Amino acid sequence: MIEIRDVHKKFGHVEVLKGVSFNVSEGEVVCLIGPSGSGKSTILRCINGLETYEGGDINVLGQRVNNKHKSINDLRRKIGMVFQRFNLFPHRSVLENVMEGPIHVNGEPRHVAEKRAKELLAMVGLAEKINAWPTQLSGGQQQRVAIARTLALQPKAILFDEPTSALDPELVGEVLQVMRNLAREGMTMIVVTHEMQFAREVADRVCFLHSGQIVEQGPADQILLKPQEPRTQDFLRRVL
Ligand code: ATP
Ligand code: MG
Repeated sequence: MIEIRDVHKKFGHVEVLKGVSFNVSEGEVVCLIGPSGSGKSTILRCINGLETYEGGDINVLGQRVNNKHKSINDLRRKIGMVFQRFNLFPHRSVLENVMEGPIHVNGEPRHVAEKRAKELLAMVGLAEKINAWPTQLSGGQQQRVAIARTLALQPKAILFDEPTSALDPELVGEVLQVMRNLAREGMTMIVVTHEMQFAREVADRVCFLHSGQIVEQGPADQILLKPQEPRTQDFLRRVL
C-alpha cells in the first residue's frame, strides 16, 4: 500500500534521509523508532506530501508522491496524520472539530458528517464530551479527538508522529488503547513512537532509523529483543 524506495532528502546541504526503503502492506502496523534527528518525522512528512524529496520513490496506493503531485489533497485525504500536538480548532466544539474535514474537505452533507463524528467520538471514548471546548479537555482527550478527526476523513492509512510524547504519563495509556483498537480493526498505520512496549505488542514490523538510514528492520520481537546492529542495541539500551 505504501512503498518507500531509496528516498533521499536534503535540507540545504545536509542530507537527512540517505536512501530510506521500506514497505507497508494493507492492514500492517509499522513502528519507526530511532534517536532524535534521525529523520523519523521527515519520512512521514514526505509520505503525505508535506515535504518534497530529491531521490527515490514513494508510492501510495499505486500513485507516486512528488512535488508535482496534481492531487496532493487527494493524497492527504487517503493518508491521515496525527501529530504530537493536536492543533484542534479552539473556538469550535469537539463535535465541530471532527465534522469540519468531512464537510469542508469532502463536501459531505452536515447530517452525514455529524452522525459519523458522533460514532467516532463514541469509539474513542468521548461520547460525553461532544459539546465541550477543546480547552476543557485533558491532553489525552484532545489527542483522542484529533484521532477521531483524522478518522472522519476515512483515510486508508494513518501516520502517527509521536502521538503520546506531549502527554502526561498517566494519559498515555488511553491514547495507546485507541491506537491498539485501530490496529486490531485492520487500519494500516505507521507509528513513530518511543513507547517500546506498545511497539512490541502492536507492530507487525519495526524499523530502526539512524542518521537518515534504516539500519535494521524486521518483526517487532526480533528488532526489540534481539537487535543485531550495534546502533540498535545502543539505542534500545538507552530507551528501555
Ligand atoms: P525527533 O525524535 O526529535 O522528532 P526526528 O527523527 O523526527 O527527530 P526529523 O525531525 O525528521 O528527526 O529531523 C531530521 C533532521 O532534519 C534533523 O537533523 C533536523 O534538524 C533536520 N530538519 C528537520 N526539518 C528541517 C527543516 N525544516 N529545515 C532544516 N532542517 C530540518
Ligand atoms: Mg520527529
